[in-house]
Amino acid sequence: MVARLREHYGIRDPKVLEAMRSVPRHFFVPEALQSRSYGDHALPISANQTISQPFIVARMTELLELDGNSRVLEIGAGSGYQTAVLAFIAAQVYAIERIGDLAREAQSRIRQLEIYNATVKCFDGTLGWAANAPYDAILVAAGGPIVPQPLAVQLKIGGRLVVPVGPARDAQRLIRVVKTETGYREEDHGGCAFVPLIGQHGWRDH
Ligand code: SAH
Repeated sequence: MVARLREHYGIRDPKVLEAMRSVPRHFFVPEALQSRSYGDHALPISANQTISQPFIVARMTELLELDGNSRVLEIGAGSGYQTAVLAFIAAQVYAIERIGDLAREAQSRIRQLEIYNATVKCFDGTLGWAANAPYDAILVAAGGPIVPQPLAVQLKIGGRLVVPVGPARDAQRLIRVVKTETGYREEDHGGCAFVPLIGQHGWRDH
């Protein structure tokens, strides 16, 4: 998996490659699908959600430009796999998941792996997590119609927000927002397909 990330997908950040090598992805995948854990695809988890494709986990992590001092907010913890990858590199990870069962399971897997610098809570992540703001980096693992404004506000100057954004529920562009002294700079990092971001600054639940 790591050779493919490096050679086929061009992931370069050694910290990201090391994290992808170290976090046991099969631990986050439902038992019946475990033989496919290291394949080049997303996989279903419970509650109609997915564990993201390894490439997209690595690419989003690389775009966050983390180091050992980074404080990171993650929206859409799902299985907790991305949370564990972020925690391997960063100082502290605050993760939010709107589905209670997933949040509890993610937190329990993180603890079983003896990761102590990540915490998963259950609420609407489009509101951000103001109590721990500002953040060096924010990752959103679900696609919404717009960049959620509270998340941009909770970035430090120089901070990076990576978020899939698109006008339909099933296809997005991967957007990186960088907060500058005077405002925000936005970059487009290509097409992607995430499950919907549901919440006050996302899609409505239906
Ligand atoms: N990185 C995760 C991806 C999970 S899929 C993994 O690799 O396992 C995206 C997750 O975002 C889903 O679990 C979904 O429930 C969650 N989600 C959607 N809208 C959300 C919101 N407003 N706040 C928090 N989580 C949300």
